[in-house]
Formats: sequence, structure tokens, C-alpha cells
Amino acid sequence: MTSVALIIEGREVRAEAGSTVLEAARGAGLYVPTMCSHSSVHSHGTCRLCIVAIEGMAGYPTSCDTEVEPGMVVRLNPPEVQQLRRSILESVIADTQHPRTCLECHRRARCSPFMACTRFGAVWDGNKCLFCHKNQRCELQHAATVIKVQPMTDSPYNYPGLEVQPGGPLFERDYNLCIVCGRCVRVCEEVRGRTALAFTYRNGRPAVDSRLGLPMEQTDCEFCGACVDACPTGALMEKHHKRGLASGTVTSTCPYCGVGCQLRLEYREGELLRTFPDPDGPANRGQACVKGRFGITQMVHHPDRLTTPLIRDNGHLRPATWEEALDRVASRLKGYQGREVGVMGSPKATNEAGYLLQKWTRSVLGSGNLDQSERQCHTSSLNGLMQSTGSGAMTTSIADIGRASVILVAGSNLRAAHPVIGLQVVGAARRGAKVILINPRYTDLNSYADTWLRPRPGTDVALLMGLARAIVDADLWDHTFVDDRCDGFEQFRDSLSAFPLEEVDRLTGVPRSDMEAAARTLATAGPAAILFSSGITQSSHGTDSVLALANLALLTGNIGKDGAGLCPLRGHNNSQGASDMGLLPDFLPGYSPVADEGARSRFEAAWGTPVPPTGLDSAGMVEAAARGDLKSLFVMGENPAMTLADSDRVRQALGKLEFLVVQDMFLTETARMASVVLPACSSAEGEGTFTNTERRVQLVRRAISPAGASRPDWLIVSQLARRMGGQGFDHQHPAQVWDEVAGLVPDYVGISHRRLEDGGLQWPCPSAAHPGISSLHTDAFLRGKAQFTRLEYRPPAEPPDAEYPLVLTTECSLFQFQTGSMTRKVEGLEGLRGEEAVEINLVDAQGLGIGDGDWVRVSSSRGSVEVRARVTGASPPGMVSMTHHFAEVPTNSITCPALDPVSGVAEFKATAVKIEKAHA
Ligand code: SF4
Ligand code: SF4
Ligand code: SF4
Repeated sequence: MTSVALIIEGREVRAEAGSTVLEAARGAGLYVPTMCSHSSVHSHGTCRLCIVAIEGMAGYPTSCDTEVEPGMVVRLNPPEVQQLRRSILESVIADTQHPRTCLECHRRARCSPFMACTRFGAVWDGNKCLFCHKNQRCELQHAATVIKVQPMTDSPYNYPGLEVQPGGPLFERDYNLCIVCGRCVRVCEEVRGRTALAFTYRNGRPAVDSRLGLPMEQTDCEFCGACVDACPTGALMEKHHKRGLASGTVTSTCPYCGVGCQLRLEYREGELLRTFPDPDGPANRGQACVKGRFGITQMVHHPDRLTTPLIRDNGHLRPATWEEALDRVASRLKGYQGREVGVMGSPKATNEAGYLLQKWTRSVLGSGNLDQSERQCHTSSLNGLMQSTGSGAMTTSIADIGRASVILVAGSNLRAAHPVIGLQVVGAARRGAKVILINPRYTDLNSYADTWLRPRPGTDVALLMGLARAIVDADLWDHTFVDDRCDGFEQFRDSLSAFPLEEVDRLTGVPRSDMEAAARTLATAGPAAILFSSGITQSSHGTDSVLALANLALLTGNIGKDGAGLCPLRGHNNSQGASDMGLLPDFLPGYSPVADEGARSRFEAAWGTPVPPTGLDSAGMVEAAARGDLKSLFVMGENPAMTLADSDRVRQALGKLEFLVVQDMFLTETARMASVVLPACSSAEGEGTFTNTERRVQLVRRAISPAGASRPDWLIVSQLARRMGGQGFDHQHPAQVWDEVAGLVPDYVGISHRRLEDGGLQWPCPSAAHPGISSLHTDAFLRGKAQFTRLEYRPPAEPPDAEYPLVLTTECSLFQFQTGSMTRKVEGLEGLRGEEAVEINLVDAQGLGIGDGDWVRVSSSRGSVEVRARVTGASPPGMVSMTHHFAEVPTNSITCPALDPVSGVAEFKATAVKIEKAHA
């Protein structure tokens, strides 16, 4: 990017060519008042408040849409400009009837909502204060002060008198304070791709409102809060942020999904006040979703937080001291041999906690039985990508997705599961990128899709091989890339003979012509990013599906160049990190195979203890518990009683354990079964790092003190390890734990907490001066040449039959997260989606006599759940869908436990079920 030198306010300023005068001024730390302009939307200079004087230009151009030019001389605040701005702002205030009280109040810097007003009290009806809670953050107030808007001499309290409107359960719309700048409408439309807000007229004046004046829940609002963040006044405000000003702010990483949004956490006197997206967050650039924006503060301060250890005596959990609880756990665990103990860690916990947990398991408990719930999501990605490229991680970065010319999204309800990555796709589509969706269900992204391939559930491998066949048949494959950089192409091409397109059409239900059109787009329309998620990976053939996607990327040369790559979208905030840290039975930290003697001996030398060469994964541990071979289980931040398939059987197995320990923030369904419960901190109360889905290691910073006696995960594990005689658990801070990891894993050598203070780094980062690698495999694959894989089609493990004629798939709601242990503590999220529903196609519903909202019984060969029906066109006939967020309706008690033979992921996406009306 070339830069341009110009003079602003008498000093030389450098700015990127193509940027605006406003951006150049702001980049130099200079203030220019604006109302309609906002960094996230396109400028169009309507409010005219940002006018400046530019030598040689007639009049006063708006700086927000005037591009910088070399040698330009700009004056920001000459008297005539200030006078014009004053008139503009006066008329904005007059036209919109914005109450002037806050613009003129001398106390505003010290005011609080509960303080009696000394200046305007008489006109506030004695009891109704219009204090908008935006005091000192209001851009209008600030601009009026700088521009010196004159105090009014007539009645100061003239406002429209409108009722405050709800913005759903999470924010409020007080259009008395609206200056009709339009930022909210534009950010909603331009950035979020929604149409929830619109310009309108109110009492004959221009105004904004929800689309058609509907309640926000009846619009397509996703409650992301972007409009609230863009609003310059107090017109749009968080409902639960009316507690005055913060005393401090830290930037940290969202504790929910794997996007890794950077959030600013505002706090005061031990209370987390609000969270909002960091404009500089590399993955989110000032955006977040409803969970990161509104789903943290109430959860962190919820009265159900565990604040003291609990010990089960006489069948009941009772409060205990840390001494007693740690002693109990250490002494009981010491009584078991390694193979009798298992550990389930968490992709929600920090890297440092994950590293120490696996070190403790292997070096102190002497067990190789070690896993985490990433097993149930993306171990098929890990295995498939490792086999084809040599690395199991996303090959590119989130920002790069937005530069793709083609985006293939396979098996992902992207705007619900990874909403901020969804924005990259929306933005790219608007710039002309082609979007191809592969999903049996209609999703929120369909309105941006050029092509929607709707395969029958469980037929992904056939469809993906069919696409490869269409590319090869039309000779559209990238000969140079394949010849130079890949192995196994000839054998792979031979294997495509098993996928004639007419046969794939019959099997998958996807018309041959659609396959051929999608194949042509993928191969010829420019760099392609291939995104995939649990719809691909959570299957008994998940690894094959990932390999099939990798085959497509290799065939079209879409790895290692700008705007192209393979992107497994991981579900939890630290799914990537939990695997990176070796919380897997088959890999040590940094993916050193545990079966490899050389790798083991390196860690044995570092830790001073033997490392078990084998171990059980989570399904294996459940089986061993059911047999009585596994006698004790330590669970950190996980809820296997809800997350694993065939969960009733899982609970029975857990019930056979002699000693179950759960370390968590809340008394989860698994914790209720525990012998000892250890209270853990939230991420807002702890420190460490998370690694997002693009391999970016980012800091978790502490905003407030731990709730009650809760402790950080890493510290609890260290304390337990020391109590059991473990050596090498003396770290005083997570930064020291990270340094130990970086000393053992070459990919992290250049990463330290100190460096991360300046922003996250993507691994591999081989030296302290290295910026981290955004795009993998640019010159060579980690395994040398990439490997094509021959694949065969295998039908789903549990095809529908006469008794169970429907296929149940599981997916997630935008408004809840995993088993709901965190998000269900947030009133607003509960208000938006607080109960389970089974989505069923109208054709099936009519055939079964089921109406929208009816109670139905969904049964598989493992059992039944009762739930309300939601009749929808999202599922095709023959397919129904549920989430797994609600303990009242334990969906996983009926899901199919058949495992992918390579990754051990269960068949969550294709369970044969029947549905009947309940409560007839
Ligand atoms: S919350 Fe988000 S989706 Fe809803 S109106 Fe505001 S910007 Fe639009
Ligand atoms: S609600 Fe806020 S952002 Fe929207 S038009 Fe009014 S002042 Fe501007
Ligand atoms: S849940 Fe995911 S998309 Fe939403 S704010 Fe957090 S990291 Fe971002």
C-alpha cells in the first residue's frame, strides 16, 4: 500500500493512498466532528459536520468522502468552518428536537443517574430524568462542546416525548435522542447484511425505526449490537448498562466460539459492566455477535456461579474449603493406577490450563486416558487435514476469506455458529464473490448464495467426489499445482470412476447440472476459500468428508495463495488451542505423536517422568467406565453427560465411577453427579491465552477478581499436581506456563505473553522477531507434497427405515452456546431462544398431523424426548433438526453413537428417528 504525504493543521501527515482526509486526520490523532460517518460503514457526507478547508478547493468539502492527495493542505478548524459546523449542529438539534439539557449541563462530567439535577431538575417533571447513560461517551455532546454550540435561552426541554421502544430483550431505542444520522441503519445493512432498521417518517419528520415498525424480534435482527455501538448518542443503549461510567477497560478474547473476537471489557469496583467489540481485533474488526456483546456480564455475575468447593457426603454436595477439597481429590486419585483414571479437558479453558492438565495427567496420574470435547467436533478435520497437507489447522486467516472470489461453505450454519466469519462471507458476496453452499438445510446465508447444493443427509462424500469428478471430466483442474505440489493424483483420478455424476445425482439428490455449475465456479472463478464445520465433521464418515474437501482444494490449487484455503471452523473459543496443547490421547503438545518413542522421550526428559504411550479417547473412557475398568474421572470445564451421543448411556457409565471430579463455573449436569466439585473462574477473572480457529494466539486478560473462592483452572491443576508430588508445577503466572510450552513446541518459539500484549500472533511463529504465518503451505506443504486420497462412499451408520423414517440432525442456535451452561444464565439470550424445538418440514408435519407449536415425541432406537414442533421450510422433507443446548430436552440421549473409525467423532448429523404427537 503506497502512502501519501499531506499537511493537516500545519504538520506533515502520512496516509494510505485512497484513504480519506478524515481518516488521515484521525490517524494523526486530530479530532474532526462527525455524525453520519462511522469507521465501519461507507461515508457519504450527508451530515456535513466534518467539513474542512482545503487549499485550492472551492467551498468546504466533507472530509469523510474526500480522498487524500499528495501535498494537500488541510485546515480543520478555521473560524468559518467552525461557524458553519455550529449552524449545522444547531439545525440537527432543532430538526430532531434532541433535548439540549445534556449538551449544556455543567455537571455532566460528574453526574450519575441517581443524582438530583441542579440545573434542569425543574423541567424534568420532578421524577422523569432523561439521563441517557451515554454521558461522556456521547459524540453529540462532545461535538457540541468542541464546536461551542450556544446555550439556549428559551425552554431548554423541548423533546418529542416518544415512548422508549424495546430493542428486543437486549437493548432499548429511545428515539427522543435520535439525530437521524443513519449510522444504525447503514451498519445493520452494510456490515451485518440485515434489514432490521429503516429510515421512515415520524410526525412528518425524517426518522429511523425498526423495519415496518415491527417489534425487533419480528425483523431479521440478530441482536449483534452493532447499531448500538455505532449510535453517536444515547438513542440506542444496552438495556443492562445503566450503571454509569466504568473505572477501567481491558481488551480480552471472547469466551464463546472459535472466531476469537477481541472484546473490550468495562468494569467498575469489581463489577463487569459491559463488553463490546474491539475495532482493532484482527478477526472481528469492531464486530461481535449477540453472545460476545450481551452474553458475558450476566453470566459472569450470575448467582448460580460456583463460589466454593463442594464435597459429596452422604449423597449430598456440601461446601468445603479448598484445603479439604484438594486433599480429598489428591488422596483419592493417588489410589488409582494410571489406566484406572481418565481426564476430560475443555476447549473452553486457556492454553495454559490445557497444557498443565495434560502434563498432570501424563506425568503425575500416569495415565494416557485424555481427551476433550473437540473430539466430538473437529478431530475429523485434524486427521483429514494432517493426512492431506501435514497440518491439521486452518490454512489461511479469517480476513483472507473476505478476499476470496469463491467461497464454498459446507456443513455450516455459519451465521449462527460463527457469526463474525459469516460477515466476511456477506461482505465478499456483496463485492461479487460467488458463494456455494452445501447443506441439506436452508440457513441464514442462503440469501447470499449463488448455488445451493442440498444433499441428502450423510451423502457428503459422494457429493464432494462428484464435484471432483465434474472438475476432472471438464479438464478444469489446476495441472501445474497438481503436478508440482501433490502426490497420488493418478490413483485419485482412477477412484473417481466410482462416482459417475448421474449416480451421484441419484444418491445425493443434487441435480447433475448444479454439480457441474458449482464445479466450474470452484475451479475457474478465482481464489476459493473452503469453509466447513460440524455438518461435515460430526459424522461417522467425517474424516472422509474432510479428505474429500482437501482433494477439491488440491485439485483446484486453492491452498497457499491469497483468498484461498481450507478453513475448518472450530466451535469453542479454544478448540484449536486445546488440541495444540496435547489434550488428546494420541498427540503431545504441538502434535508430536504420543506413539512415537522419540517424541515421548523429549517430553519425558522435560518433565522428568515417563509418558504413557497409549490412552483412551472420550468414547473409550465411557466404555471403560461402563465396564468398571475406569474407576475415576477428572472433568475440567466439560459436560459429557450432555455433550456425548447416547447420553443416557454416558450418564449410566459416569454413575459407575468410584470417584468423579468436576472443575467448572456452574453446577452442570455432570457436576451434579460429582464426588467433588472445584469452582473455576470465568475468563473475565483469569489470565492466559486462547487460540482461535485461524491459529491466532490471543491474550485473555483479567477485568475483575474471581467470584467468591473460585480459582483459575491452571492454578487448580497446579495445586493438585503439587499435592500429588508432581514436579514442574511451580509456575507463578500463566505467562511462565506459556514459556514452558514455547520451549517444547517449535511453532510457538516466537510467541510470549509479552509479545501478545501488542496483539495476537498466528502460529507457526518460529522466532521472537517473526510476525507469525497467516497462510500455510505457500511454498511447500508441511508433509512435502500434499496427498490426494482415494475415497469410497459409505452410507450413514443408521439409515432411516420403516420404524424410524426421519433423519435427525443437530445444530446450534445463534443465541445459545454448547450445553447452555453459560448462555442460559443470560436473561436476554433466554428471551430470544429459551427452549428446545424440533424443526420439521411442512410436508412431514402435515403427514403426521402435527401443527406448529405442538408437543411431539422424538424417538430413536435409544429413547425419546418430548419437545415442541416448529414447522419450517428449513429442513427438507424427511429431515428434522434440534439443538443440544437445553438440559430439559437432552437431544443427545437419542443421537446415534456410531463413531468415525479414524477420528472417533459420533454420528450427530444423521440419527434415524420417528416423531409422534405427544399429549394427544
Ligand atoms: S442489533 Fe445488529 S442486526 Fe439488529 S438492528 Fe442492530 S445492527 Fe441490525
Ligand atoms: S438511533 Fe442513533 S445511530 Fe440511529 S439514526 Fe438515531 S442517532 Fe443515528
Ligand atoms: S461468540 Fe464468536 S462470533 Fe460471537 S463475539 Fe464471541 S468469538 Fe465473536
